[in-house]
Amino acid sequence: MECAEEPRKDNVVVAVVGGGLVGALNACYFARRGFQVEVFESRGDIREAEIVRGRSINLALSHRGRQALSRVGMEEKIVSKGIPMHARMIHSLNGKQSPIPYGKKGQYILSVDRAGLNKDLLTEAESFPNAKMNFDHRLHDWNSDTGCMTFIRPDGTKESLQADLIVGCDGAFSTIRKQFLRQGRFDYSQTYIPHGYLELTMPAIDGEFAMKPNFLHIWPRNTFMMIALPNQDKTFTCTLFMPFDEFEKITSGDEVMDFFQTYFPDAIPLIGVDSLQRDYFRLPAQAMVSIKCSPYHIKDKCVLMGDAAHAVVPFFGQGMNAGFEDCIVFDEIMDQCNEDFSAVLPEYTRVRVPDDHTIADLAMYNYVEMRAHVNSKWFLFRKKLDNI
Ligand code: FAD
Repeated sequence: MECAEEPRKDNVVVAVVGGGLVGALNACYFARRGFQVEVFESRGDIREAEIVRGRSINLALSHRGRQALSRVGMEEKIVSKGIPMHARMIHSLNGKQSPIPYGKKGQYILSVDRAGLNKDLLTEAESFPNAKMNFDHRLHDWNSDTGCMTFIRPDGTKESLQADLIVGCDGAFSTIRKQFLRQGRFDYSQTYIPHGYLELTMPAIDGEFAMKPNFLHIWPRNTFMMIALPNQDKTFTCTLFMPFDEFEKITSGDEVMDFFQTYFPDAIPLIGVDSLQRDYFRLPAQAMVSIKCSPYHIKDKCVLMGDAAHAVVPFFGQGMNAGFEDCIVFDEIMDQCNEDFSAVLPEYTRVRVPDDHTIADLAMYNYVEMRAHVNSKWFLFRKKLDNI
């Protein structure tokens, strides 16, 4: 007796909208399962671009992100290019540096290059014969009943495509999510914090790191702070987080120097006076938003993941990591529900929303922890006890 033929998965189209960190990883997860995967990304191919515009230059990869990479065989490749950070290094005003380990001996997080990670994930996704990258495709609108999406090309022309499942990985300002706002019983909140951020580069000195490399350096100054993460080219990327009001008060190179002299004097010779005065004004400070929503799906047609579902403030270093974990959680539910989208999507919302909302809350809490609490003697004492 002949078995009934299984529906061919390569006829089932999964459209991943957004080829950023989470979208590119997700494409690998869906392609591994044999679906016909179409990735739509509004930017051109970043592997061919000289300058990759985006958010932070580097970011911290932690355990949950590594787990998600390991399931698609990418962990070793990415980890080999990362720089371990075993502890925070607190810079006091007088220049004294005190380490606070992240966990037990041997535990660490990794500083990775955002653009490099995104490029590697795109290349991995593209290695599947059933995955296709569509760059320069900006989603304009989509229909939640039919799954029909309309994209705008750089020359202004429009293209449409219908998918069986749409995976919204198009970031904090998601176009996919806009349709959710038109549905009944969709909860949504967004909060901008009063702080902005700007990035500065601390160059290598004689081909070596200007500070100890295996640390996440922090200059906590209570209402604001600067951090620095190491890069493979022996530079550090310093990020200054400060209320917009304070950024606006600094309008000249001399004022930048006065400010750094008062709060970060040890960083001046390491960044360099000329670079500081120039780079401080290169780009305006960027805003940071925290977004929560629920549910994460519409019927069996569409699901949100990564920042499109839960943008968090960066102080817990878990935005990308949580987005990567979304991919694992979805993948496990696909196994449990036999890839039946009508069962998988509501289950994903049920399981994932509470965890993502908790991460958003922890990130908000860590906003104060990093810039203020790490200063307290009690905190340093407690951390020492933790590590005995
Ligand atoms: P994104 O990276 O925003 O990617 C979305 C993609 O969708 C982009 O490529 C975009 O071009 C594309 N897109 C947007 N709109 C459309 C459209 N209409 N059509 C088609 N494509 C579209 N996280 C960590 O885990 N660790 C850290 O240390 C860390 N540090 C951070 C530091 C800063 C300063 C900031 C701001 C964030 C940090 N994060 C960190 C958070 C992390 O950057 C995000 O969580 C992560 O980028 C989310 O990935 P994503 O793929 O969901 O979204």
